[in-house]
Formats: sequence, structure tokens, C-alpha cells
Amino acid sequence: MPKLKEECGVFGIYNNLEASNLTYLGLHALQHRGQESAGIVTSDGVNLHKHKDMGLVSDIFDEATLSGLPGQHAIGHVRYSTTGSSQTKNMQPIVINYFRGALAIAHNGNLTNAKTLRDELEGEGAIFQSTTDTEVIVHLIAKSKEEKLVRRIIEALTRCKGAYSLMFLTPESVIAVRDPYGFRPLVMGKLGDSVVFASETCAFDLIEAEYTREVEPGELILVDKNGVQSFKPFGETKHAYCVFEYIYFARPDSFLTGRNVYQVRKELGKQLAKEHPADADIVVAVPDSGVPSAMGFAEEAGLPLEMGLLRSHYVGRTFIQPQQSIRNFGVKLKLNAIKEVLEGKRVVIIDDSIVRGTTSRKIVKMIRSAGAKEVHMRISSPPTKFSCYYGIDTPLKEELIANSLDVDEIRKYITSDSLGYLSLEGVMKAVEDTKKLNGGETFCNACFTGKYPVELTDQKKIKQKQLGLFGG
Ligand code: SF4
Repeated sequence: MPKLKEECGVFGIYNNLEASNLTYLGLHALQHRGQESAGIVTSDGVNLHKHKDMGLVSDIFDEATLSGLPGQHAIGHVRYSTTGSSQTKNMQPIVINYFRGALAIAHNGNLTNAKTLRDELEGEGAIFQSTTDTEVIVHLIAKSKEEKLVRRIIEALTRCKGAYSLMFLTPESVIAVRDPYGFRPLVMGKLGDSVVFASETCAFDLIEAEYTREVEPGELILVDKNGVQSFKPFGETKHAYCVFEYIYFARPDSFLTGRNVYQVRKELGKQLAKEHPADADIVVAVPDSGVPSAMGFAEEAGLPLEMGLLRSHYVGRTFIQPQQSIRNFGVKLKLNAIKEVLEGKRVVIIDDSIVRGTTSRKIVKMIRSAGAKEVHMRISSPPTKFSCYYGIDTPLKEELIANSLDVDEIRKYITSDSLGYLSLEGVMKAVEDTKKLNGGETFCNACFTGKYPVELTDQKKIKQKQLGLFGG
């Protein structure tokens, strides 16, 4: 059940006459990573051509717009959903024409020192057109004194802290970069003679590209007429792959660090059943993200998995204001309980996380109203206590229910008969136990532990300012 919002998805392709069509398909497969806006920029070897708009990929692009994007190289971007039309200025890819030529950039992630850098750049006279931290990177690249673009990008990113999986496009090249911690995913593949990049491997499946490997944390890959060149300019550091990508964000058919996300989620469910078994008759998933974990839970517990909740896939934005008389309107638009499945049953309900608690409360109520005798809530991750500053749009920590209430207090709030969260050890075991290609990875788990792998420069300054310790 989507409660946290994924920030973005990126795609890139070098050397294919169908570049814009393939980027369209790639973005289509990455749509779950952002539904607010989408954009494609292509290169015909001399000029860049762009089209971006608010809305879903399939609404923004059609035959006419795609044929207006000529060229054999392209990058694309999908952005997360927020309300308000003022977000048009934040659509990506960003395209600039500076004294060294044209450059397009698409970014997934979030810089933790963006405000600090922006203040500095504005102090030097820079004028910003958007509120995205991506524009900070653009300004740093433009003002670099380095000769070659790769060196300019490296110099700019050396100043940036936080999470970035980036795609760049120039008239002659495509460049992919992943931050040294590897927070957000980025993979490389091939399609005939073309090189492709995407946030997730599911984009390759759709265009029938072959997965080659991950873009390594701290790696910059340049693809141009000289072939594929890899640079490791940022030095080695401990990796911090976002563990929430496995729990909720990524598509289950994708592979992250060589692991299939569906298998990891199923394993999370098995661990959850071991840690928090329930005396129940049936297991029900909160669709869609809770489904693989519910399958694992049911298998481990030896209980039948039933479809007690049905999700509507056709929920767009609604502008109807709910009346007091039609409560739970929001959740009812997305989910409906199947009475025949739930009536008289002791139900274990599996979800991936609880953010504010309001949705879980409504789901429990919905299941009880459908006649369930008992409702046992199980969550396939630890309590979400802290905000993410690395590219996931989480509420302020004060709004996270687990930040202020303990497990039993949350249980009372959501009105379930019992509540069990998977431990962090259980999450890591599930990730580690899943067949993988890589090994020895380390993960970010800051939203559960508050241990942030990269310093929160901007946050620290805001806090110091609030405490009167920081001037300016
Ligand atoms: Fe992922 Fe949580 Fe770390 Fe953000 S804080 S990168 S959501 S694990």
C-alpha cells in the first residue's frame, strides 16, 4: 500500500535509432517510481530535443510527441507525485545551454547539502529556475574550470553529499553516475549494439535488453564514440544501499544487487511468520506491495492465503471532497474488503510499513466491518521512526506514528487485536539469505535506526539556526 513516495526513476540509452520510443517504454516500466511528471530528452548528434509534462508517461507521450524527439541517444525521467501544479518548474530532465554546449540531466535521489550549496551559489549571483537540488549540480558543472565534461561533473559531485543516481546527455554522449554510497539503484544493460541504463532491471525486461551489471556505487560511466569508459573518482566508502527499496519501493520483478525483489519480499514474510506467528485462520495481503510477504508468511505459517482485500488500479487523483457521511473515502477508493472471504475469520493482515497509522487503522476497520472475528496486523519491516533524506518523500519524523508511540500504543491506535513488526535482524537475514550475485554489501536503514550514513548538513544548519547557534 503506497504510503511513502518514491522520488524518481531514470533511464538512458546510447546508440539506437529508436532511442525515444525505447526511453518511453523504459519510463513506462519505471512509472511506479514517480507519477507526477515525466520527460525525455534525445540527441541527434548535434542538438538536444526535449518533451516533458505533468502526468503519467502514457498520457504525456504519443506518436506525435515521440516522433518530435529524433536522435540515437536519449535520457528520461519520471518524478514522484505531489499536489499542486506549481511543480511544472521541477520537471526533469533539466536541459541547459551553457558556454560549452547543451547538457541534459536526470536525477534520482536527494542531496543532503543542497540548501547549503544553493545559498553559496546564489550568494555568487547564480539564478535558480526550480526548487530541485538537481539544479545545484547543474550550476556547479557550469561554473567548473575543468576542460572536459567528465572532469567538470566529477568536480561538481565532489561537492555534493547524499544520494544521486544520475543520467547526463550531451549531443555526443550518455553518462551515468551513482553516488559513493549507492543509495538509489542504477543498472546497466545492452540491447544489440546499444548501451542502456535504468533505475531498475524491470525497464530492461520490457525493451528486451540484457542486464549487464550494476553501476557501482561511486562509479561514473561515460558512453561515447570511444566505447564504454568507467571512472571511480570519489574514493572507496562503505556502501549504503537503501533497504526500503527491497521492502517496498522497487518493483518485485526487478533485481537489486543481484537479488530478485519478489524473492526478498517473500523471505521477509517468512521471517515475519517466525518472529510473530499468529493464531489465525487466513492470511490476507494489503495489495499490491504486501502480496509477496503475505505469500511468504502464509507458506511459513501453514495458513491459507486469501484475497480478502481488492485493490482498484484505476485510482487517479480525485477532486471530490469526502463528506463526513462517507468516511474512509480515500482508502475505500483504493481498497475494498471481500466479505465472503473475511466473515467469521481470524485474519492476519500483512503490510510493508506503517507511516502515520491512519491507513492501517482504516484497513483494520474495513476488515472488521466485513465480519472478521479477529484482526492481527503484521508488518514486514521495523517501525518507521525517522525521516529519509536520501530521496524518499517521508513525512517529518514527528508525523511518523512509531516516532512517538511504542508498538502496543500503535496497536491500540490502529485497533488491531495484535501487531508485530519484523526486526531489523529479520530484514537483513531475508536480504542476505536471498540468492545474490554480489556479496558483502552494507545497507542504509536510517528510517528505522536514525543512523544516517551521510551527514545531514542542511538539517544540522536548520537545527542550529532554530537553536540560535547559526547565523545568516
Ligand atoms: Fe532508504 Fe530509509 Fe535509508 Fe531513506 S533512510 S535511504 S528510505 S533505508
